[in-house]
Amino acid sequence: MKISELLRTKEVTISCELFPPKKGSELAKAHEVVREMARVKPAFMSVTYGASGGISEHTVDLANEVQNVNGVLALAHLTCASSGRDKIQEVLGELQNRKIENILALRGDIPADLDFPLPNQYHHASELIEEIKAFGDFCIGGACYPEGHPEADSVEADIEYLKQKVDAGCEFLTTQMFFDNNILYNFLYRALKKGIEVPVIAGIMPVTNANQIKRITSLSGTALPARFRAIVERFADKPAALKQAGIAYATDQIIDLIANGVNNIHIYTMNKPDVAGAIFQNLSEIYIPGQEPEDGRNQKI
Ligand code: FAD
Repeated sequence: MKISELLRTKEVTISCELFPPKKGSELAKAHEVVREMARVKPAFMSVTYGASGGISEHTVDLANEVQNVNGVLALAHLTCASSGRDKIQEVLGELQNRKIENILALRGDIPADLDFPLPNQYHHASELIEEIKAFGDFCIGGACYPEGHPEADSVEADIEYLKQKVDAGCEFLTTQMFFDNNILYNFLYRALKKGIEVPVIAGIMPVTNANQIKRITSLSGTALPARFRAIVERFADKPAALKQAGIAYATDQIIDLIANGVNNIHIYTMNKPDVAGAIFQNLSEIYIPGQEPEDGRNQKI
């Protein structure tokens, strides 16, 4: 099933995110994480591609595990900052062979040591989207940044380029994490005004450990509301309390979003099935996954 069809149903969808291991020797452990995460019955699971724009050897394998072994719809991320067209065509062929038809097309961060762009390479995600469309019948999503992408000259310029990305064939958007829902509501208004009418999936990051906080506070432009900062200050050196508070904060954000008509939520679960499980449990009367067919597989595939 294409994610664009799923998002058209107007039902609440909650999806999760996984990242693949760097080494092949860690794949068995990653498969176990997929199995545990599948038990909470997310609407789909996305599998990131490398990090900081690097290539990934195991995204296709993990997406295959999600969809063809565990019966959950998979969204494979694909970045192009570190790849030429040959590599992209190779990955697209692998996804097609495994019947994975949903791709989140990204430029990726530009690695510091890379002379970007190399010849035969993409400058922006919109070019990758055009290439994927020409390759085959994929459903393509893209990233968006409610607070503006850090490289953008202005939020206006960023949204102008976002419109180009949607016009290139992007059928849905997933947002960067945000900790103040008003930032998303403001972004949705500006996007609609610009003529961006594809579904926007709200990306929520449950902050459950001190390392994540360091990373988030180093991200330029991510607004941290006073309520969020108070949690961090109070519980930063109490890991179990921070985890509980982080899960509660994320749950609260999600409930407010759904109450205000934002039906599609993506949780940056960062390979933590226990965190996903706790949030899904908190939302058990709000998100009710589709009924399963008799063989136990998710019927949405
Ligand atoms: P683009 O859409 O190409 O935008 C990048 C910048 O270029 C923006 O500032 C934009 O305004 C500008 N721009 C766009 N088009 C033009 C144009 N025509 N002319 C001039 N400027 C233009 N990274 C990974 O490495 N792996 C992942 O799996 C991954 N998953 C992600 C998932 C989500 C939901 C999000 C929000 C981010 C993810 N990232 C991932 C990070 C992402 O790759 C980086 O944020 C990257 O810097 C930008 O990627 P993009 O696809 O948004 O780029």
